[in-house]
Amino acid sequence: MVGSLAKLYETIESLSESYLLPNQNKKALLNPRVPISATEIPLLLSDYELHNRESYGCSNCHLFVADVPNLMCPRCNQKMTSALSYVPPSPANTGFPVDGGFIKGLMTFIVKDNLEFMPMSTKDVVPLLKKKEGILELRLMLDVQAAMKLLQLSLQSKTVLTKFYKDYSSQYVTSCQPL
Ligand SMILES: [Zn+2]
Repeated sequence: MVGSLAKLYETIESLSESYLLPNQNKKALLNPRVPISATEIPLLLSDYELHNRESYGCSNCHLFVADVPNLMCPRCNQKMTSALSYVPPSPANTGFPVDGGFIKGLMTFIVKDNLEFMPMSTKDVVPLLKKKEGILELRLMLDVQAAMKLLQLSLQSKTVLTKFYKDYSSQYVTSCQPL
């Protein structure tokens, strides 16, 4: 695969679930088109679309859900007509603060140029410093446009962060210093 997206996927696949928020799982990140549920939110749907999305369940077995009404339940062969509403995760129904995103707050990661990333620990940093690979601390202000640029670069290049820095530092990089 051209670009860095495959590496990013590999890294997420090998990431321990303990870094994720309790209401998230890796499946939602790696397979963003899975059917809707509290832990499996399609990544590209806005909050508005999620909250206003209609689903239809089987009122007999309660096991199946569809995006359009009146499909046949695969188990009961009855029309799925029960209109279902989406419930977003909240402190009230999860029992902990819901920040959005996937990773627990206050975690620090080292991100390589090809977007491979690892939890920041002395064990990982020391070998990199010895190799003189040049670790920089970049502070970025990321919005949707910046994220789309990163995504685009990740499909084209294995030096995503270098290219991003070169092309967009004036827009999105607020500071850059050697670690
Ligand atoms: Zn059914």
